[in-house]
Amino acid sequence: MEREKACLICLRGNELLLGECNIGDRFSVRLRIRCPEGSIPIGVWHTHPGGDSIPSSQDIKEARRVGLKFVCVEGSQGLKCFKV
Ligand SMILES: [Zn+2]
Repeated sequence: MEREKACLICLRGNELLLGECNIGDRFSVRLRIRCPEGSIPIGVWHTHPGGDSIPSSQDIKEARRVGLKFVCVEGSQGLKCFKV
């Protein structure tokens, strides 16, 4: 069974960097807010195994709670990113 994967996306100047990545279970993944030195968390990429490329209400709520600006979802329609 495919498991959900996620990576934090961080910003340093004009450069986007990968932050913490993790693999969860079929329906969710935990991600710590950790970025490379000198960068700040700005967004998150994650997969929806077998699901739509649209952030869930929980995805949006969590992203806003930790101050992220966008959520990218890789699902059955490919990769899509949304401002939150
Ligand atoms: Zn999601």
